[in-house]
Amino acid sequence: MGTNRRYDEQDIEHYDRPRRRGTRPRTKERPSYDDAATGTVVTIDRGRMTLLVDGARVTAMKARPLGRKAVVVGDRVKVVGDVSGAEGSLARIVEVEPRSTVLRRTADDDDPVERVVVANATQLAIVTALADPEPRTGLIDRALVAAYDAKLAPLLCLTKADLADPETLLSTYRSLGVPWVVTQRGGRLDELRDALAGQTSVLLGHSGVGKSTLVNALVPDAGREVGQVNEVTGRGRHTSTSALMLPLPGEGNRPDGWIIDTPGIRSFGLAHVQPEDLIEAFGDLDELTEDCPRGCTHAADEPECGLDVALANGEVDPERVTSFRRLLDARSVPPYLL
Ligand code: ZN
Repeated sequence: MGTNRRYDEQDIEHYDRPRRRGTRPRTKERPSYDDAATGTVVTIDRGRMTLLVDGARVTAMKARPLGRKAVVVGDRVKVVGDVSGAEGSLARIVEVEPRSTVLRRTADDDDPVERVVVANATQLAIVTALADPEPRTGLIDRALVAAYDAKLAPLLCLTKADLADPETLLSTYRSLGVPWVVTQRGGRLDELRDALAGQTSVLLGHSGVGKSTLVNALVPDAGREVGQVNEVTGRGRHTSTSALMLPLPGEGNRPDGWIIDTPGIRSFGLAHVQPEDLIEAFGDLDELTEDCPRGCTHAADEPECGLDVALANGEVDPERVTSFRRLLDARSVPPYLL
């Protein structure tokens, strides 16, 4: 197990008010917040969180009882105070509900500090252009490792299919069973919409792959959403590098899923990902490693790995093992800038 796990609650921003010990009696009884409203954190800008509470956009900050506990985009929170969303109002977040998933990153592979960047997502959409710029499989591999580690379903979203045949790239990922959709410039997005429907999808991709174009096409008023954040913070531009969670238009007022844009994620350090975290995502391979020696990393140079036994007996698709081992290796490749 990675020792980094203890940094789970590390704040994503500096919350540096010193804890003054002994100035007030500690009580075991935590206040009850039965009358608190429930909201979802859609973005964070310099310690101010924007929440959606019953459809209203509410500005809030962390209340004292939360201490250093991080609040991140996607968190479902309990909030008290003025939740009207009226201009100038400020509510207080008093509780963070348990997270179903967490997407973490370390800034670099040798950075011991792990930070949760998004909570409660269900899918990681890796947006990659098929050409201009050329796809970088190293980067896709690293994003896949992050997805499997976070127990998010991966989705390859391959853009600019009008420029290059997706087959070359898809052949690299087929044996892993990674689902994929392709889009063309100016083309329809039905296939992508279907893949995102009902999910909370983190969109990851470096500049030039067409991610912003997709976001604007999927959420026609994405610009307005950002504009509202500006209103709230009173600044002219949304300067935060925080993730931004946007509702996908659905029937009536109900969103048909969510997308989370991630302008702030420039790289994924994967130092915290252990072989066991990764192989769990591939149940058939996991079973084959039951008799591995203790501490086996399942890499190609392990002397008695169950994967090699299965390969020798013809019990497993060699390409699947090779691809899995490529993902294992991707953990130790220096992080690519997105
Ligand atoms: Zn093994």
